[in-house]
Amino acid sequence: MNRISHWIDGRVVASTSGKSAPVYNPATGQQTGSVDLASLAEVDAAVAAAKAAFPAWRATSLSKRAEVMFRMRELVDANRKEIASLLTAEHGKVLSDSLGEVARGLENIEFACGVPQLIKGEYSEQAAGGIDVYSIRQPLGVVAGITPFNFPAMVPMWMFANALACGNTFVLKPSEKDPSVTMFIAELLQQAGLPAGCFNVLQGDKVAVDGILEHDDIAAVSFVGSTPIAKYIYETGTANGKRVQALGGAKNHMLVLNDADVGMAADAAVGAAYGSAGERCMAISVVLAADGIADELVAEIADRIPNINVGPGDEAGNEMGPLITAESRDRVKGYIDGAPSEGATVVVDGRDGLPSEGYFVNPTLLDNVTPEMAVYTDEIFGPVLGVMRVSGYQEGLDTINANPYANGTAIFTRDGGAARQFQFDVQVGMVGINVPVPVPVSYYSFGGWKASLFGDTHMYGPEGINFYTQAKVVTSRWPDPSTSSVDLGFPETR
Ligand code: NAD
Repeated sequence: MNRISHWIDGRVVASTSGKSAPVYNPATGQQTGSVDLASLAEVDAAVAAAKAAFPAWRATSLSKRAEVMFRMRELVDANRKEIASLLTAEHGKVLSDSLGEVARGLENIEFACGVPQLIKGEYSEQAAGGIDVYSIRQPLGVVAGITPFNFPAMVPMWMFANALACGNTFVLKPSEKDPSVTMFIAELLQQAGLPAGCFNVLQGDKVAVDGILEHDDIAAVSFVGSTPIAKYIYETGTANGKRVQALGGAKNHMLVLNDADVGMAADAAVGAAYGSAGERCMAISVVLAADGIADELVAEIADRIPNINVGPGDEAGNEMGPLITAESRDRVKGYIDGAPSEGATVVVDGRDGLPSEGYFVNPTLLDNVTPEMAVYTDEIFGPVLGVMRVSGYQEGLDTINANPYANGTAIFTRDGGAARQFQFDVQVGMVGINVPVPVPVSYYSFGGWKASLFGDTHMYGPEGINFYTQAKVVTSRWPDPSTSSVDLGFPETR
């Protein structure tokens, strides 16, 4: 049985907490490993290593820090398959999807290679007579990342690439459900030349998270996960004086107008709803179908579902794998069980034809979903797509804007004016126009609004650089001392 431990100060450190959690292969339901769960003393050890490494790392030149990121870029690129297969083995997503995750994570390392340019300050000569003013951006110190199970490689890369490039040192607390990939990333960072202590992995559960949130030596916390935990992280972290960005859950709508190409919309809905078994925070879980095309759209989606190859993620040709745990599978099935009594129509039932082992639920399509149903109000986080029928643009828009979540959304239409109006009106952080999963490229920033984000700062890209640095403004003059005199007036610039 594979034991997954911490990575502290440049080496693997076995926990002495006496606590561990099982790690499964979700495609078989077999336990494949056991992950250590940190004690508070181990949180202290990881933070102490990061704190000790900080002074030298922040003093390391920008070129050298960028060089480490360039080497990491090459190492991740060379090890794409290795990372992807570690990820598939514990998460369950199919290998092609894991490779996609690595590719999107890699973009963030590439972005961080530009740190000398990204971290540049501003300079104003002669802001007043003989006085120059300039701004500099400095790292915060030890920063922590707490990440979810659904992107065990990409979401850590969203965080540590910019954090390290900006001169911070890092403590990562990955999901205990698929922790192995983070240990491999730690080794790659070491091979890339990152000094020991700059990047630490703390395996753990709530004990480790609370230890991070309450630790005096941690300056900032980045979190990605479900909304209730995001809210808790934000409230607890900020109450302890930390800078916090906490990205939460989602309920993403795709509005399909009457003029849309129905076949293209159906293709997009199927990919966005069932890719990664719906375990993406940007998955489409509700299609808002305008009345004129609703029947045709439901039929076209239903037609495509039997062609989806569901099975173990490491078998070639499979397009959708299992859910993460038995508990997840049972919860998702519970929503399908309850849907008819709430008045929804089960068009395709994903409880049918399941393999005898593993945590599978097949793609499921529900029609006639309405706003009060649990399948609408809750984030299901599984391969269940609900169709809600709307009269057209305005009812679709109002439905999206009334939803408490606001991570991503999409509109499918051939009317450029309607799409432009949607982009203007919709109260959601990331918008797709004929793009169903609009995850921003790494040189923009990722994040939702409303209950999908706690804090002010979105993740990665320019907002990531801002989050991991603090600004300092210097006002300087070099006068001839012979001109000096006492002046009690408030300094003026004119
Ligand atoms: P989760 O909230 O259960 O766990 C996230 C992290 O918090 C994990 O590291 C976990 O160990 C820790 N945690 C869990 N319970 C805790 C508790 N009670 N106290 C302290 N820490 C706790 O989320 P998950 O199930 O791993 O991931 C799926 C969720 O993440 C979904 O809601 C999904 O929408 C969301 N997500 C959001 C984004 C985004 O960018 N907005 C991206 C990916 C996933």
